[in-house]
Amino acid sequence: MLATLIVTSAIPAQSKTLPEYKPGLIKEVPVQCSREAPDLDTEIAHASATMMAEVTTYRYLGTFDVYAYCPCFACCSKHPGDPGYKHTKTGTIAEQGKTVAVDPKVIPLGSVIYINGDEYVAEDTGSGIKGKKIDMYFEHHQDAVNWGVKTLEVFIREVDNGN
Ligand SMILES: [Zn+2]
Repeated sequence: MLATLIVTSAIPAQSKTLPEYKPGLIKEVPVQCSREAPDLDTEIAHASATMMAEVTTYRYLGTFDVYAYCPCFACCSKHPGDPGYKHTKTGTIAEQGKTVAVDPKVIPLGSVIYINGDEYVAEDTGSGIKGKKIDMYFEHHQDAVNWGVKTLEVFIREVDNGN
């Protein structure tokens, strides 16, 4: 097979935009190739190698009620120093701008989801987070209060390596 070299330059995260979507349709958003481009010397140029471009796909999940929480006792029933304080269900340390809690029956833990222009990781759960609800993690309680609850469109990232 003739080698087809696909080199997709990395796109800075801040310039990454999601295209227009229609609910139920899958849109493919090329982000970057995870493999390094080979040296374009004669030997490799003639080698029969297959390069696959990784394609990031976001699947629309619908609108969710997005709540907010913080590590405080009111939100998580744990004080600083308590076992599991700031630890998510998946064992990670909760991080603002990254951590969201989900219903694992709706969004599998470990999923990367896309809300309001940013990517988050579904790495926590919450007793009140059932169905199409998401809890967004904030470091400070006041920021969580200020967030309130928003109804937002949610996408889940699916990585297709071309197989
Ligand atoms: Zn709190």
